[in-house]
Amino acid sequence: MRVETGAPLEPQLSVVAPLYNEADNVEPLVQWILEALGTYPGTFEVILVDDGSRDDTWSRIAGAAAAHPAIHGLRLGRNVGQTAAMMAGFDHARGRVVVSLDGDLQNDPRDIPMLVAKLDEGYDLVCGWRQQRQDKLILRKVPSWVANRLIRRLTGVQITDNGCSLKAYRRDLLDRISLYAEQHRFIPALSASVGARITELPVRHHARRFGESKYGISRTVKVLVDLFTLKMITTFRSRPLVGFALAAMPMVAAALAFTGLWVYAATHFTPLKSEAIVFPGAALLWLGAAFYLAMLGLVAEVALSSERESAREFPTAWEVR
Ligand code: UDP
Ligand code: MG
Repeated sequence: MRVETGAPLEPQLSVVAPLYNEADNVEPLVQWILEALGTYPGTFEVILVDDGSRDDTWSRIAGAAAAHPAIHGLRLGRNVGQTAAMMAGFDHARGRVVVSLDGDLQNDPRDIPMLVAKLDEGYDLVCGWRQQRQDKLILRKVPSWVANRLIRRLTGVQITDNGCSLKAYRRDLLDRISLYAEQHRFIPALSASVGARITELPVRHHARRFGESKYGISRTVKVLVDLFTLKMITTFRSRPLVGFALAAMPMVAAALAFTGLWVYAATHFTPLKSEAIVFPGAALLWLGAAFYLAMLGLVAEVALSSERESAREFPTAWEVR
């Protein structure tokens, strides 16, 4: 449900924050954002997404929305997770520029004007970089350091802090990427894959004051699984046959090895031993498996090509002068 408060139509900037059981953070957050944007020259709206909280979060959001015309509340039917909550907020955001941040006061709204100004220099995405992160070392900073290195290696996108929620986006970019699961950490990588111009800026970061973190160490595993899937999807989607052919290579090698053994046995072993059928059998088995994979790859290519035809999935121009 969206609380309509009569804000001016089409604000220039939309600020989106997901909140899950953050009741005590709502009012300070609203105050802080309004203060930080007090000197912002354009029009803006703030969209607070209640991600199915079980505490007072929604009533506080509704109260803030009633008190300030620029504040809007969005209540999700159940807890769908941070990424989906952010997506819901993006869907309702009307600004030409959108900024996302955490709803727990860990990101600093005073950094918003700086990110937006950087965007205006000609970027599609400006990522916050928590240089002095105020989180636990073992549970947060170490896993995050490893994950960020892996993300940089696997995606080739040189953003230092992928996990920072404080980011500024051009509306057109958000329309081009879709996120699911825990993928908000891969926004830079997904944006790069659609040709976005990306940069990063150091931002402030604060320790949590109210409420508690929604994640444990199990998040690390989820992030790694998501990263692997993302890599698979992006490489597989363009040329599935290549992936299947690569997987078939070791099988062909095994088939060749068994053929070699078979020839060796036939020429060197005593007649009784050389008639053993295990080597040709094994060779045929591996060859069959390799053939099967290659066929699967071809089927995937055919399926994708007809899908591409119907979706007309061609790269579109970003700038036309
Ligand atoms: N969050 C959410 N839905 C969830 C989990 C988290 O909307 O299922 C919100 C949470 O309220 C906070 C932000 O996402 O505003 C970041 O979560 P958290 O502070 O727990 O993550 P951390 O800072 O510990 O990485
Ligand atoms: Mg937090």
